[in-house]
Amino acid sequence: MGKVAELHDLSLADLPRAPERRIAIHVHAAAERALRQGHPWLFETGIREQSHEGAAGDLAVCFDRKGRFLAVGFYDPFSPIRVRILRAGSPEPIDVGAFERRIEAALTLRRSILHDPATNGFRLLHGESDGMPGLVADRYADLVVMKLYTLAWLPHLADVIEALRQRAPFRHLLFRLGRTLRSHPDALHGLREGAILSDRPRGRDDHASGAGMKIPVLFQENGLTFEVDPVRGQKTGFFLDQRENRMRVEALAPEADSVLNVFAYTGGFSLYAARGGAQRVVSLDSSRPALEAAERNFASNRGVASIAKCRHEIRCGDAFSLLRRSKEEAFGMVILDPPSFAKEAAEVRGALTSYTRLARLALGALRPGGILVSASCSSRVDAETFFGTVHRAAELEGRALSEVERTGHPVDHPLVPHFPEGAYLKCLFARAA
Ligand code: SAH
Repeated sequence: MGKVAELHDLSLADLPRAPERRIAIHVHAAAERALRQGHPWLFETGIREQSHEGAAGDLAVCFDRKGRFLAVGFYDPFSPIRVRILRAGSPEPIDVGAFERRIEAALTLRRSILHDPATNGFRLLHGESDGMPGLVADRYADLVVMKLYTLAWLPHLADVIEALRQRAPFRHLLFRLGRTLRSHPDALHGLREGAILSDRPRGRDDHASGAGMKIPVLFQENGLTFEVDPVRGQKTGFFLDQRENRMRVEALAPEADSVLNVFAYTGGFSLYAARGGAQRVVSLDSSRPALEAAERNFASNRGVASIAKCRHEIRCGDAFSLLRRSKEEAFGMVILDPPSFAKEAAEVRGALTSYTRLARLALGALRPGGILVSASCSSRVDAETFFGTVHRAAELEGRALSEVERTGHPVDHPLVPHFPEGAYLKCLFARAA
């Protein structure tokens, strides 16, 4: 743990401002249909005609074949997703007020979490689904980690930050950059991976200091304390999307007794299983630093009697080969929460094979009557296909599965209709004969 002196600070004054001039775009029929349904992306291929070439973050106004307004969004010449829609159906000025309204709506949707004194880690803004396409903001206590997936946000960042200050004040704001941004360092205007903006009274200069921020950051989820490394950690440091599934694991833990948490990362599921009453929990992951964080997370929560009593063991290595070796261990619950196996369409077949292999191996390590928790975060594999794959794996193992529950997205990772690319999370809870 230490101060984050090595991190780069951010000066808002260096960021570009949004140009006044807008790009007019006329779209093809198929794109028009998609935009009318509420799909938040206009692909390069959906553009019929465009007034002029624009820069990342220019506002693009999209029109149908009859020249009627369809939508307004951010232009991004670096991405095949050429326009990310901010508003469809009727025009809206895109300014601080627009972002304030989106943040306000996002907070209203998440009121159950905001009213929960035991949780101060959650996703505040979930990109397209919260009207902020290509932008994710996760809250960990008084830190907001903002991950940007398009350069288009740069000219609008000052407005977004102002809107956050008004509606969801933070102490520190830390930036994570998606692949497109990292591969265009010249277009970043000083913004860097890990840059920190620390809030201070209005009227002073906006230059950040990062002062007072310690890594890892501690936050609470359902009364458990977790550490998060927002700079080096995966995603924004924690997999907040599994919060509700972790609660389900806690509820099922008493009957499980011993739990194998595969792809455990920093032990999220493991701690809930321990609190729920599992006597023994094994956290398995290929990342040694993540498993060390899992051990520290157990230590931070030893004030909870059941967690203090639980025997926690870590295993570092490849899930497939370690599962093969766990064959006769007869766990009462096996949790599978692998990374996305299909980032591209061409990888879907391979992903299904991996899900099948994993589920078969997990069943091998599960005692009769034990609980299999199997999650997938690949948006390219739809829920039905995924659940079918798990069932087929069970058939191949000669183990009938009786479903306990199927789950999807939690409240702070909302879904918008007609946007299948946004539906990524599904999880099956089932008892295996
Ligand atoms: N269940 C976790 C999140 C899992 S993310 C939670 O609730 O927080 C996926 C994890 O899989 C990462 O921690 C990554 O380090 C790990 N991983 C990726 N490939 C792996 C492999 N082949 N074997 C074991 N772990 C792997």
